[in-house]
Amino acid sequence: KAKELGRNNFQYFAAEMNTSVTDRLELLNRLRQAIPNDEFALHYQPKLNLRTGRIIGVEALIRWHTPGGMVSPGSFIPLAEETGLIIPIGEWVLRTACRQNREWQKAGYAPIPISVNLSPRQLARGDIVELVARVLQETGLDARYLELEITESVMATDVDKSFAMLTQLRALGVKISLDDFGTGYSSLSYLKRFPVDTLKIDQSFVRDIATSQDSAAIVKAIISLGHNLNLNVLAEGIETAAQSQFLQQNGCDEGQGYLMSRPIPTREFLNLLSAQ
Ligand code: C2E
Ligand code: MG
Ligand code: MG
Ligand code: MG
Repeated sequence: KAKELGRNNFQYFAAEMNTSVTDRLELLNRLRQAIPNDEFALHYQPKLNLRTGRIIGVEALIRWHTPGGMVSPGSFIPLAEETGLIIPIGEWVLRTACRQNREWQKAGYAPIPISVNLSPRQLARGDIVELVARVLQETGLDARYLELEITESVMATDVDKSFAMLTQLRALGVKISLDDFGTGYSSLSYLKRFPVDTLKIDQSFVRDIATSQDSAAIVKAIISLGHNLNLNVLAEGIETAAQSQFLQQNGCDEGQGYLMSRPIPTREFLNLLSAQ
């Protein structure tokens, strides 16, 4: 009996593994063709000053439109990272975001910084500083209107190398944000030392602000930590007025979330910009 069960389990497992490998391969093959097939687009989510309600920045988020529908970054960015495809994809995102922001400025919109997410793999390559400098030059975007979002894990992997890299990026004039802050393992001593402009409080804490005393306490602690280190603090994932109010009352500088706007295509984003 046990033997039979074992064999069945194995067959079941093998069959499941098979499909997932095939699916993965198919996804990967399509992902390789996504740039030549022009299937990527950027959507834009505004960042607001929580006191004034004004748009003070915008985050570029990648979208992949396949013939079979939209694939979310949550399911292809990890694959792109594992396979190295994130290198050309990341370069496409950086160039497209910088070019777009420059075009908005040329069209007369008030200049705001655009944020681009960088994956650890892009930073590990060692040529990110050159790439950023080249893209700024090519697109004509002033460095102060570009912000790079990195996660804490980047700081923790090779401290000396990432310190040097962030320092050089900062020297170009770009800004640095720590994305998903609070979910990684960054030591607070790195934080003091590292050239960073903004802490982005992870949405998991923001979500539970009103219902969990722990989350509320963590959010307050991050806000005062950030301010004591002279950093700007932004809260991600604000969905309700109650969350927004809590953040405002506790001195959080900036916010981003569905309450204000989902990530939206260019045209809609420009409507928001001109409305203010
Ligand atoms: P992230 O950089 O932390 O971006 C925030 C994510 O939360 C986005 O998901 C955004 O659409 C979503 N979001 C914003 N406001 C709310 C809200 O109020 N409620 C909820 N539930 N979600 C909200 P998205 O666009 O699916 O991106 C997921 C992650 O994929 C990003 O997290 C980022 O890590 C990665 N990603 C997206 N675009 C790029 C890219 O161009 N390059 C790289 N390397 N990673 C990217
Ligand atoms: Mg981000
Ligand atoms: Mg985040
Ligand atoms: Mg994230």
